[in-house]
Amino acid sequence: MKNIAHKLRLSTSIIIFLLTVVSVIYLFLNPSFVVGLPLKKIAINVVLSMLIFFILFGRLGCSLVCPFGILQDIVTLFSDRMNEKRPNWIGKYIILAISVLLFAAAVVKYKAILSLNLPLILGVSAGVLFVIVGILSAFKDRLFCTHICPCGTFVGLISNISLFKLRIDKEKCMCCGICERGCPSCSVEACEEDIDNETCVKCLKCMSNCPKEAIGFKFLD
Ligand code: SF4
Ligand code: SF4
Ligand code: SF4
Repeated sequence: MKNIAHKLRLSTSIIIFLLTVVSVIYLFLNPSFVVGLPLKKIAINVVLSMLIFFILFGRLGCSLVCPFGILQDIVTLFSDRMNEKRPNWIGKYIILAISVLLFAAAVVKYKAILSLNLPLILGVSAGVLFVIVGILSAFKDRLFCTHICPCGTFVGLISNISLFKLRIDKEKCMCCGICERGCPSCSVEACEEDIDNETCVKCLKCMSNCPKEAIGFKFLD
């Protein structure tokens, strides 16, 4: 099971990605579809479900659900991987703080925001971001996720206390370095038997590639 975990995760995420693209296009062409839906209730349920998911599995959504993450996985199938030491960039926390402030300002000024052409603004912003993230990942794997994305930084902080974390079994590991070399977020220090669950996007590649099956999810560790 461990050696097909990455393929299973990638196939599932590509199906979710295609469904998301079709849904977004449908909603863009038929905005009246959302009229009458209990949007506030739906939003609260979605946020609560996501929080529970993050507390359980940390950044697994970054590999399974987020369209930007899946886009990077698809692009990096055809490009070289990022080659650097473990990402430990303080700037991502500053980006997160600025994003929180902007979000709070948008909530306070929500009436002015609602008067804007939101579908157009969101559609164009998402499209531009999609292209930028795609180009970045062609050069540097998950650079956007580990250094820029405020959502990823936020969920990464929760990952530090998530119930299930990826761990290396010290008894089984032979320090071959395969997991470290293949990690798209440079989150593994193989010979230290250490995985940084804050930056790890849970792509499960290391788990599948390890010849000793030494990597897996551990509960409360
Ligand atoms: S870090 Fe951000 S862009 Fe990357 S997969 Fe997670 S939520 Fe998506
Ligand atoms: S691939 Fe497995 S055996 Fe090799 S360093 Fe990583 S955990 Fe250890
Ligand atoms: S540590 Fe493993 S699961 Fe996490 S991003 Fe790296 S290869 Fe993927």
